[in-house]
Amino acid sequence: MRIVLVGPPGAGKGTQAQFIASHLSIPKISTGDIFRANVSGGTELGILAKQYMDKGDLVPDEVTVAMVRDRIAQPDAVSGFLLDGFPRNVPQAETLRDMLADNGQAVDKVLELVVDEEEVVRRLSGRRTCGQCGRIWHVDFDEGRDDVCDDCGGRLFQRDDDKEEVVRHRLEVYKEQTEPLVEFYEKEGVLAGIDATGSVEDVTARALAALRPA
Ligand code: AMP
Repeated sequence: MRIVLVGPPGAGKGTQAQFIASHLSIPKISTGDIFRANVSGGTELGILAKQYMDKGDLVPDEVTVAMVRDRIAQPDAVSGFLLDGFPRNVPQAETLRDMLADNGQAVDKVLELVVDEEEVVRRLSGRRTCGQCGRIWHVDFDEGRDDVCDDCGGRLFQRDDDKEEVVRHRLEVYKEQTEPLVEFYEKEGVLAGIDATGSVEDVTARALAALRPA
């Protein structure tokens, strides 16, 4: 099965993508994760991507599309995959459609995670990442958690793209560039909207229900 996950930053795409992909035994392909790995590794791609990511802007399409083309051609993705964070605009969606059509394939389902804008700002701007082990904490949900990681004692920091003004900019980018995908995939007859509020388990259950054949 070939699945695309769409939703604003902070909707919980990464978490849901992980659960859904492992449930269906398909790889989760997250463009944001691939970019972040390249940033940490100091690669040429990472250095380029970081300039856009820190501002909350999209990395140029040609760079992103080439990266996805390579990734979905890997053996583990031959019989299916779940895309998290790609496509992010209509031109990327059109390219993905053409890429898959070349192999007689298509996107089977697009899950849209629906969540309120202010909730997103609260979720993301309260996130703190451990500089040592990478675990993510939240200043509202993990009481007293603002500077030290309980797991490893590492220092917590706020990702540049989780700062409130950057979060608001990412939301604007989402509305302008990514939201039109909802209509694009609705027309293709593959869209399913899911309420992304509530517990992680509840949202996963809704997502899996939406993926079951009618
Ligand atoms: P994410 O973790 O999906 O929110 O992605 C973090 C950042 O990586 C985004 O704010 C963009 O700068 C970049 N990025 C991820 N996916 C894409 C994409 N499909 N097209 C362009 N930029 C992307």
